[in-house]
Amino acid sequence: MQNLRRVAGYDVQYFATVEPQKRLAPHLHMAIRGTLPRAEIWQIAAATYHQVWWPPVGEPRFEGEHVPEWSDGVGYVDPGTGEVLPTWDEALDALDEDPDAEPLHVIRFGDQVDVQGVLAGTPDADQCIRYLGKYLTKSIGECHTPGNEAQREHMRRLADALRYEPCSPTCANWLRYGVQPKNAKPGMVPGRCRSKAHKPEHLGYAGRRVLVSRKWSGKTLDEHKHDRRAWVLEALGLTEEDVDPDRYTWRPVPPGDPELRPLTHRLLREISRRQRWRTALRLAEARAGGHPVEDLSAMREAA
Ligand SMILES: [Zn+2]
Repeated sequence: MQNLRRVAGYDVQYFATVEPQKRLAPHLHMAIRGTLPRAEIWQIAAATYHQVWWPPVGEPRFEGEHVPEWSDGVGYVDPGTGEVLPTWDEALDALDEDPDAEPLHVIRFGDQVDVQGVLAGTPDADQCIRYLGKYLTKSIGECHTPGNEAQREHMRRLADALRYEPCSPTCANWLRYGVQPKNAKPGMVPGRCRSKAHKPEHLGYAGRRVLVSRKWSGKTLDEHKHDRRAWVLEALGLTEEDVDPDRYTWRPVPPGDPELRPLTHRLLREISRRQRWRTALRLAEARAGGHPVEDLSAMREAA
């Protein structure tokens, strides 16, 4: 991602979503603004990788009831021998000193990199936006419904394996491999880490589902918002004085409030509001450009 964010020394603007493929590997859909040679994107994808240097997790050292015990002032110890397990920092130091050490995980892009040029405002662009927006309100596990018993079994096996896979330096699962987790504290049990990565609905992906660039233009989101507002006011021929700052009353909505509509209703209402605004803006632009407003009545109805 770091390489994709910064191409040829400048930040690119992008909007991306992560979805599971049928085999449950994460798949990235990314809309990038600007023109880039396809060959360059393929080279960047091929050269992009991330290594995770963590202690090895081959054979588990502690399983079932046989798990390390906490000892105050000492840390986790082997319940059989009383040996103090290496701390996280000690385990990392051992990794540094091992000339044969290899990263525990290496993450790369797969072979399938499909690059398409799309022009703004075309049906192609609309289709891409629909695709990127489709899963915004769903968790990653809801994007994919297993179609047969083999796929259901595959999901179960993944969830089982994830239960004992260490998800981060602070994960309790390190105890299974004889290492004290970073910031170890009493009560840690392998297989009981509550982090997102172990939950079946996240399919092992604990990161963000939606990735959006922020620093592409040197402006903050607030500055962009302010620019858009100034532009809209100008297009509508309004000034700051025309806007009533008290037109909304804000109050927290408690759960179960009868006025709180279901999420789908709220989203649809927001979409229709946006469409009304867009039509109003187009009408204002048409008037400013000297086009007859009657020609736009069909557009208003469509929205
Ligand atoms: Zn964990």
